[in-house]
Amino acid sequence: MLNLKTIMAAALAGLGALALSSAAMAQSKGTVGIAMPTKSSARWIDDGNNIVKVLKERGYNTDLQYAEDDIPNQLSQIENMVTKGSKVLVIAAIDGTTLSDVLKQAKAKGITVIAYDRLIRDTPNLDYYATFDNFQVGVLQAQSIVDKLGLKDGKGPFNIELFGGSPDDNNAYFFYNGAMSVLQPYLDSGKLVIGSGQKGMDKVATLRWDGATAQARMDNLLSAFYGKKRVDAVLSPYDGLSIGIISSLKGVGYGSADQPMPVISGQDAEVPSIKAMLRGDQYSTIFKDTRDLAKVTADMVDASLSGKEVQVNDTKTYNNGVKVVPSYLLKPVVVDKSNWEKVLIDSGYYKKAQFQ
Ligand code: BGC
Repeated sequence: MLNLKTIMAAALAGLGALALSSAAMAQSKGTVGIAMPTKSSARWIDDGNNIVKVLKERGYNTDLQYAEDDIPNQLSQIENMVTKGSKVLVIAAIDGTTLSDVLKQAKAKGITVIAYDRLIRDTPNLDYYATFDNFQVGVLQAQSIVDKLGLKDGKGPFNIELFGGSPDDNNAYFFYNGAMSVLQPYLDSGKLVIGSGQKGMDKVATLRWDGATAQARMDNLLSAFYGKKRVDAVLSPYDGLSIGIISSLKGVGYGSADQPMPVISGQDAEVPSIKAMLRGDQYSTIFKDTRDLAKVTADMVDASLSGKEVQVNDTKTYNNGVKVVPSYLLKPVVVDKSNWEKVLIDSGYYKKAQFQ
């Protein structure tokens, strides 16, 4: 006779079997190794969490590692992933030119390699690239400066200083070139003037995207070139650099009624920088929705492991020195005081309470 106890026992056994079978399924889909550059910036923490979440939901195991911007450390983490049997590697490289040997080993084992956000250079052993439209990031950064200064209405001349990202990160060149495509006409017409004259990635790059390095360079620029004149705008490619640049400017009295902050750009929409924007210290930033990047990457993992066609939307732009890498480019969004709530809060990326 069926009583409540037996029904419950059967139900529990059923649940157990279900749990077991989904665990087995998770195992059967294999492990994805995820190599992230650093936890020193919130965006990479979000990236890691988002990819793990999506991949777990789809039945994969994950091996997520951060290398604290140390190149040998990242290399050995990836070597470990290869040895331990990851089926796919998802890599946001610290230095995109240092992975050729380990990727050769990966290829020999039939591992699919996906460059995440940053292109991996100088290797044939890279299958796909999931990222944002990096040239457009630079375009948007510069456009927000141009708009705020009123250059299109003929205002100017204004003094500007340029900062670039890390010279070992392929993205840094795309950001810089995108920005210069917008700024160059105003530099040519004299409506924008680089007070220091420092231009070109060889002069303005910031190794490892380090905020303190940017702050020290801004200190030098201010004392060497801005004794009597004012800096009106700073092209900064990343929020972490903007924070250093802002500290430097405050140190010499910018940020007051008679000496307002220059128009400063940024990237990643990190919480401290949105707060700086709301205070009026930073003008704009670029939001790159890491939830979308995680999803695109997981789609690549799924398709490549199940022998389906991997969806890409760009097969021209990203030549890594050996081949053009099939890529999926997502759209970056410029954020300033006028749209931050709509873009960042209404989309559920952040909670309003984080800014109160
Ligand atoms: C990323 C940016 C980030 C920068 C510093 C770049 O490769 O695309 O989003 O601001 O690295 O972490």
